[in-house]
Amino acid sequence: MPDLKNFDIIIAIDGPSSSGKSTLAKDLAKKLSYRYIDSGAMYRAVTLYLLRQEVSYQETNNWDFLENEIHLDFQLDQDVNKILLNQEDVSELIRSAEVNEHVSLVAALSPVRSFLVKSQQAMGQNGGLVMDGRDIGTVVFPEAQLKIFLQASFEIRAERRFKEQLAKGMNQTMEDVKQNLQLRDFIDSNREDSPLFKATDALVLKNDDIDLEEQLNICYKWAKEKMQSLKS
Ligand code: C5P
Repeated sequence: MPDLKNFDIIIAIDGPSSSGKSTLAKDLAKKLSYRYIDSGAMYRAVTLYLLRQEVSYQETNNWDFLENEIHLDFQLDQDVNKILLNQEDVSELIRSAEVNEHVSLVAALSPVRSFLVKSQQAMGQNGGLVMDGRDIGTVVFPEAQLKIFLQASFEIRAERRFKEQLAKGMNQTMEDVKQNLQLRDFIDSNREDSPLFKATDALVLKNDDIDLEEQLNICYKWAKEKMQSLKS
């Protein structure tokens, strides 16, 4: 674990797709003046790279090209967290229906996971970080000082995802959205390598009926309490 200065802790936020992790994690990081890392965006960027290069990822045996050819960076630009794939801003492209369709299959591949987990751990070296994903509290930072597991019903998550897609002008029916969500839930929770599950020491936040501001207040309080307990 990093040698924490000024009690800059690591906060891991995990949960299924569309449980509201990203917005909450980003706002929490801003409130604490911490860095925010969207680990899902990293899996999406690798997926985009594989699709562009037409890599038949289910059949590939040699994965050395991940280290050699893929460089990912995050850049905060006027409150928007951008992801750069080899210097190219791919923040919009990684949200396409095609990436949505492939990302959980790509994320189930162990070489992809080891490549990204290593880079995520390096980002957390100095603490002061909020990272969201599926395996942050279980695999990436099992010793994170604060772990939060977000939960929401399937219907609410599908509604959120549908509205998001609609706002982006994506032409998908509610049925398409539900099918994609269901499939990703299944793959993410049943894969062999690092399946999605709640760490035993994670605090659960069910957010079906809580708005973002309230969720933020709850998590901010948990973070402050944790920092306080480390000081005493
Ligand atoms: O969070 P988001 O929905 O953007 O993540 C996209 C996909 O990346 C997830 O469905 C999951 O398959 C994968 N993922 C993962 N581990 C993480 C973050 C995301 O397997 N830590």
